Amino acid sequence: MSTTSFKGIVLNSIDYEDNHQVLTIFSDKYGKIGMVALGVNKPASKNKYALQTFNLSEFEIFKSRQRHTLSKLKTAILIKDHFEITKNYDNYMYVSAIGKIIEQATLDRQKNFRIYTILLNLLEKINLNENPFSNFVLTLFKLIQFFGGDWILNQCYRCYRSYKFYRAFNFEDYGLVCPNCVREDDPIQSAEFVSYIMKLKTTNVETEEIQIVPIKYHIYLVKHLFNYYEQTLGIWNPILEQIKEKEFVKNLKNV
Ligand SMILES: [Zn+2]
Repeated sequence: MSTTSFKGIVLNSIDYEDNHQVLTIFSDKYGKIGMVALGVNKPASKNKYALQTFNLSEFEIFKSRQRHTLSKLKTAILIKDHFEITKNYDNYMYVSAIGKIIEQATLDRQKNFRIYTILLNLLEKINLNENPFSNFVLTLFKLIQFFGGDWILNQCYRCYRSYKFYRAFNFEDYGLVCPNCVREDDPIQSAEFVSYIMKLKTTNVETEEIQIVPIKYHIYLVKHLFNYYEQTLGIWNPILEQIKEKEFVKNLKNV
């Protein structure tokens, strides 16, 4: 077996027998990759910190030839820990939900540098406790494109025309509705919300901007993103369910 090196984020680790672990890493070079770490639970193991969940490390592995068989870890060196995340239960839950989605919805060894960057970015922000909930919601939104999702945010989905302003975002067909196409029974939102959702298509919403966006926009968005993941993309997990059941998410009706 030949060795190869890459940077990666630990998504998951499972102990087996006394001293070993099976790890799932999301890497810059290979996307999701599984490996066995022998002897890592021994007290003298040098790899231990590098292998903690959500840490960023440099890995050297003996790469298995088959995509679906596990590679073997040679060494792991910690680049950046994200220990602060574990000190806040909600923050840990947000990151775990995203980690689980990426684990569930990506294929072994299918490189996707953008997912890697999005995940790393989220970990860094939440580690600093920077708008954790909003960053969680925006990450959920950014990831849908990789799982076959598409929200129509550049034109009216009914007449296909582009406008400066739209009347609503339709959360059944996931597209903007212009003033000419809006029907009497369409659920509509405030003009501010609609102009905010339009921005999601084109810009990476930056930190300064996140801070001035009313939190209820992100709560409203997350309710619909949850539906979208569960019903349209077919991606769901118990951590998402737990966040969905939170009072502040359940109680918000419209924006
Ligand atoms: Zn229209």
